[in-house]
Amino acid sequence: MKLHGTMRINELGHLEIGGYDTVELARNFGTPLYVMDEAEIRRVCREYRAAFTDGFGAEVIYASKAFMNLAMCRVIEEEGLSLDVVSGGELYTAIKARFPASRIYFHGNNKQPQELRMALEYRVGRIVVDNFHEMTLLNDLAGQMGVRAQVLLRLTPGVEAHTHEYIRTGQIDSKFGFTVPNGQAMEAVKSCLTLPHLEFKGIHCHIGSQVFDMSSFNHAAKVMMEVIKDIREQAGIAVEELNLGGGFGIYYVEGDQPATIAEYAQAVTSAVKEMVAKHQLNIPKIMIEPGRSIVGEAGTTLYTVGSIKEIPGIRKYVAVDGGMADNPRPALYQARYEAVVANRAAEPAVETVSITGKCCESGDMLIWDINLPQVKSGDIIAVFCTGAYNYTMSMNYNRLGRPAVVLVNDGRADVIVERESYEDLLRNDRLPERLRVGQKIKLVQ
Ligand SMILES: *Cc1c(COP(=O)(O)O)cnc(C)c1O
Repeated sequence: MKLHGTMRINELGHLEIGGYDTVELARNFGTPLYVMDEAEIRRVCREYRAAFTDGFGAEVIYASKAFMNLAMCRVIEEEGLSLDVVSGGELYTAIKARFPASRIYFHGNNKQPQELRMALEYRVGRIVVDNFHEMTLLNDLAGQMGVRAQVLLRLTPGVEAHTHEYIRTGQIDSKFGFTVPNGQAMEAVKSCLTLPHLEFKGIHCHIGSQVFDMSSFNHAAKVMMEVIKDIREQAGIAVEELNLGGGFGIYYVEGDQPATIAEYAQAVTSAVKEMVAKHQLNIPKIMIEPGRSIVGEAGTTLYTVGSIKEIPGIRKYVAVDGGMADNPRPALYQARYEAVVANRAAEPAVETVSITGKCCESGDMLIWDINLPQVKSGDIIAVFCTGAYNYTMSMNYNRLGRPAVVLVNDGRADVIVERESYEDLLRNDRLPERLRVGQKIKLVQ
């Protein structure tokens, strides 16, 4: 069990984050509650910049799908990172947060015409073209609008990252990108160079997520540098930009041993330097796109314990007031988490329990088999490392409202996303005339 970011256990034996007692957070804002540690997010952003930008001139781009809302866009902008978006909705949020469009990268394997038009209208920095359909579509749209789109091409280098198969993207059998080993990538570069409304700026790859093995990143960078050499030979141009994606793994549970960000930078930059020397290439501008590792460990979810069911000799189920609706990752990827009883965080563990949610699914389990102090109804459970792909993957299954998000820092807590109310859940429901009933009903909120 590891404490993350600014976490500590205070004099009352309570877990504290950002100088704010989590028991007080639960009381003041309700549960389930996502708590984001602002100082920790900023610290990681700075560590990335120190490792990649200061030494190597690389651009660090936050992959916003990990955790995104107006406040997060502002933090990222203040820290001097750029921003990845993968949909019109993410782009709209970034623009509303006044994130500079020139530092926005637009990804996605099936961008809609309306999304591409929006990206061109806002003049986003780069559109990362994924496939031939999009290439033609974007060229046409840019032509109609009288602009030139600055593009990177997403390539699939054929690198098998050692991670869960649902979050592996670098292998040949992937829905993303132009395949390198079968020659499709080179064909894409050549086509792009012939299209009048596209300006080819460089190439991109993203091999997967929650990758611990730095040699996977090193290998991918080398493959991409080989592609740059081939482009020079076959198309006669020096590629200016090389975007190597994200995927840096983080600690979730004991046994996870992530490398340091400095080691990550070393793995990537040494590969680039080696290949530059080997083939006498120009050094391209390097970009990386961390998502999970910027926010993952900065996030904690607080829950209140309700029912407890013990099946003697088999298992004790501790049910909390959230579950797969606010954290679908255990159900999606068998993701594992650590947790503490936040109101008795210093007490030793005395029993093994399983933490389950309140959704009507047997698969709605947050943690199988965790050692905790004797858990009672009313206790506050804090699940760690929920900052990435929790809030952004949350849903309204069982008509549960999504939890609020608070940003804590230096003893303050600010709501950055409001809890969804019952009225919010009905916001888009419409009742056709023929289904309406006459009498008014008294609503309990
Ligand atoms: C999701 C994604 C990332 C970020 O991945 P993490 O594992 O969260 O670091 C980076 N680039 C692209 C294109 C992505 O789709």
